[in-house]
Amino acid sequence: MDTTDLRIAVVGGGYGGAAAAKALSLLGADVTVYEQAPRISEVGAGIGLRPSTMDLFRRIGVFDAIDAVSSRSDYFEILTGTCEPIMKEAWPGIDEFEIPTRTNLIHRGDFIDALLGVLPDGMVHLGRKLETVEDRGATSVLTFADGGTVEADLVVGADGIKSTVRRKLFTDAEPVFSGEHAYRAVIPISDAHGMVVDDNLRMYIGRGTKIYLLPLRHRGQVSFDITFLNPDGTWAPTVTQDQLVASVEGFDERLVAIARGLDMNVVNLRAVYDIDPVETWHTDSVTLLGDAAHSMLHHQGQGANSAIMDAGALADALAAADSVPDALARFQAVRKPVTDELQRISRQGWSSDEIDDVFPGQKTART
Ligand SMILES: Cc1cc2nc3c(=O)[nH]c(=O)nc-3n(C[C@H](O)[C@H](O)[C@H](O)COP(=O)(O)OP(=O)(O)OC[C@H]3O[C@@H](n4cnc5c(N)ncnc54)[C@H](O)[C@@H]3O)c2cc1C
Repeated sequence: MDTTDLRIAVVGGGYGGAAAAKALSLLGADVTVYEQAPRISEVGAGIGLRPSTMDLFRRIGVFDAIDAVSSRSDYFEILTGTCEPIMKEAWPGIDEFEIPTRTNLIHRGDFIDALLGVLPDGMVHLGRKLETVEDRGATSVLTFADGGTVEADLVVGADGIKSTVRRKLFTDAEPVFSGEHAYRAVIPISDAHGMVVDDNLRMYIGRGTKIYLLPLRHRGQVSFDITFLNPDGTWAPTVTQDQLVASVEGFDERLVAIARGLDMNVVNLRAVYDIDPVETWHTDSVTLLGDAAHSMLHHQGQGANSAIMDAGALADALAAADSVPDALARFQAVRKPVTDELQRISRQGWSSDEIDDVFPGQKTART
């Protein structure tokens, strides 16, 4: 199929949408990104970009932009809340590529800036909130809140966990509350009580609470994340510093001291949601991608990585297929088994006893 000048409308300028725009424009397609926000920003937190993600970035010409604003990491370690080692493992995939490729630890804000920074001027249209999408078969028509409409040969719904594209064309199932909260902040290493010693991710596990320490040493900072079982499903819950500190009770005193020293004005507080697997991601001219297709819980740190891998797989499918419908079927066939499994595993973050502490009598609610 000739992809030159194929009109592709990407809805959403997050990680998935930006990576898809880059990968698809390399096919010669005419790509435009429509993002609802007037300005794209990200929460203050760190993220680990896996070897397969970094290898894909190398293939699509983004590696250097990302590598310049991140730290390369060799392994991750899991410890008890009181710092006894449980396991230590090299990031999977380091030696699977022609060039050994590690995991890069990056601030979410730097990540989106780097991704958007490789797109040509004018490709991303801000302040365009999609309201409806009409599937006309070989093409689809987007209508925005400002009244404007756009017809495209391919619409990529990369509009996140609350996706409008998904709701309009695929399923009206709502996101599912996981029963947990995430409290995240990026702090100076000097406030981390000696807990940052290298460029490797550490997860500390207590009963009903996990703490992630993700070093961002290139910035002199560390991302401190508490994930905590909590029955309050308010998307942006109100949490006091005392409640936050109580969530890490019993952890190593240095970790407790970090929590006690946090500036609550910069802590991002949210209830964590995912979605149930979506049976079909595509029509003949529309596909979902990233969280819109398969939002998952963050225990394995795979959501953004999966959105990026989707972007590469979609471009590969378009390059190999005879038609857009054929490409979308190939894309789903390659990616959905992988993300179905990641969604399933991500729901197994807690033991049934931990769940029973917080949700009595609902031990199997999320499996
Ligand atoms: C606590 C927590 C920790 C996490 N940690 C990790 C981690 O360590 N590693 C990892 O890989 N993943 C992690 N994730 C998951 C990761 O954040 C998501 O999987 C990732 O952001 C998905 O990218 P996306 O581009 O698909 O969606 P999003 O990042 O949600 O982007 C969607 C974009 O679409 C736009 N949009 C929405 N609706 C419309 C509309 N109607 N019209 C136009 N634009 C619209 C939004 O404004 C947004 O810019 C974590 C998630 C959470 C909650």
